[in-house]
Amino acid sequence: MKKVIVIGAGTAGLASAIRLQKNGYDVTILEKNEKVGGRMYQIESNGFKFDVGPTIVMMKDIYEELFRYSGVDPKDYIQMSRVEPMLSLTFADGYQMDASSDLVHMTKTHEAISEKDTQGYLAYLADIYKRYLIAKNDFIDRSFRKPSDFYNPKTLYQALKLKTFSNAYDSIGKFVDDERMRQALAFQTLYIGVSPYSGPSIYTIIPMIELLYGVYYIKGGMYSMAKAMERRFLELGGKILFNQNVSEIVIKDKIAEDVISNHEMITADLILSNADFPYAMDNLIKENKYKKKYTYKRVDKMEYSSSSFLIYLGMNKKYPKALHNIYFTSNFKENVNNLFEDQMPLDPSFYVYSPSQIDESVAPEGKELLYILVPVPNKHHSKHTWTKEFTEKYENHVLNIMAKKKDLKIYLNILKLKLITHQMILKKNSI
Ligand SMILES: Cc1cc2nc3c(=O)[nH]c(=O)nc-3n(C[C@H](O)[C@H](O)[C@H](O)COP(=O)(O)OP(=O)(O)OC[C@H]3O[C@@H](n4cnc5c(N)ncnc54)[C@H](O)[C@@H]3O)c2cc1C
Repeated sequence: MKKVIVIGAGTAGLASAIRLQKNGYDVTILEKNEKVGGRMYQIESNGFKFDVGPTIVMMKDIYEELFRYSGVDPKDYIQMSRVEPMLSLTFADGYQMDASSDLVHMTKTHEAISEKDTQGYLAYLADIYKRYLIAKNDFIDRSFRKPSDFYNPKTLYQALKLKTFSNAYDSIGKFVDDERMRQALAFQTLYIGVSPYSGPSIYTIIPMIELLYGVYYIKGGMYSMAKAMERRFLELGGKILFNQNVSEIVIKDKIAEDVISNHEMITADLILSNADFPYAMDNLIKENKYKKKYTYKRVDKMEYSSSSFLIYLGMNKKYPKALHNIYFTSNFKENVNNLFEDQMPLDPSFYVYSPSQIDESVAPEGKELLYILVPVPNKHHSKHTWTKEFTEKYENHVLNIMAKKKDLKIYLNILKLKLITHQMILKKNSI
């Protein structure tokens, strides 16, 4: 039985480990934290359960397929429910618009803006769905093992059909005129820390996926998915070792065979790293000859996503809002440009997530959990240093802005049970 070491028990590490274990490998995960999940972990405090990273479940089939692949019924591991409306959008002038996966509802919402833009919205859907099928069948569901798998006439022709040349915002602008509708279809690139004003138009696939496949909630919050994956992996006979800080992937004769964790050598036949790619190249691959083109300099110069500033609040009152809420600032473009020009947004757009609206297991009775996410410039490539003082100042700034919003005001003014669990989460993805 071949022995595999997986570095990291994030979602990708756990999903890979389950598949490998199911295929007869003897898998051990080495995780530096004391629990699974990586960015999908949870903080428990005063009866509140805060998901600290991901919150929006799209493409539920992908979550379920992992359990089916491993031979069990996903329903025995995660309970998913459809979220409706998917998102509540509030614009700077107070105009509110719900994004729904019900086409009847969406048509009415858009017709209230204009019939021309409603037609444009439907044309956008038809166009992006066509591109989605190409992306899925020719790229996402395919393995590219050698250069010729990609660089061949058929694949290159399909890549051209993806029309990735214009940016996301401009491509939406070809279909709809209303600025609110444009923002409502473009802001989703920020989910992956990319500007809609420079990120490729293919990212407008995200609102299409939300509409056509729905948005879901996993009972207990996102962390339930990480725990369910951990459970399935252990049932299959896998092992997880916590508090293991891997410091090196040891490569001998071009083959990664061992790792050094907590100063000890651990051997395996195969190593799979779930750590962020730039971090792994800088820290885990020591010899330059194995870094190849990914030298320190090159890794440093890669393009990084924006980061997220997060505030987690436990409220002593209920808050009658949707599960997912987006508040747009009056100058969205300037706000987004700030993120990629290393300017702290002074009038930011932000996202409020409130799972206790629909799940009594994440907050004490009669109380509400709020997760507030503000996109900010990339933390590691910034002139700003997130000292305690700087963080608190920005937190107060954000809460003051929120308190001026008509529908948030009264709740923030009566805020008594505020928890001191704000923190920065770095999203350091190469794009
Ligand atoms: C604020 C925020 C909001 C998000 N919202 C959404 C959302 O709504 N929907 C969505 O689908 N996605 C969302 N995402 C993205 C999603 O969370 C990530 O894509 C996903 O969790 C990444 O999983 P991963 O396994 O690749 O990496 P990680 O979760 O980072 O896992 C890596 C693991 O490796 C471990 N590790 C790293 N180095 C070592 C080492 N040297 N030794 C041992 N262990 C190590 C880490 O501790 C960690 O457990 C969000 C992300 C953030 C940060």
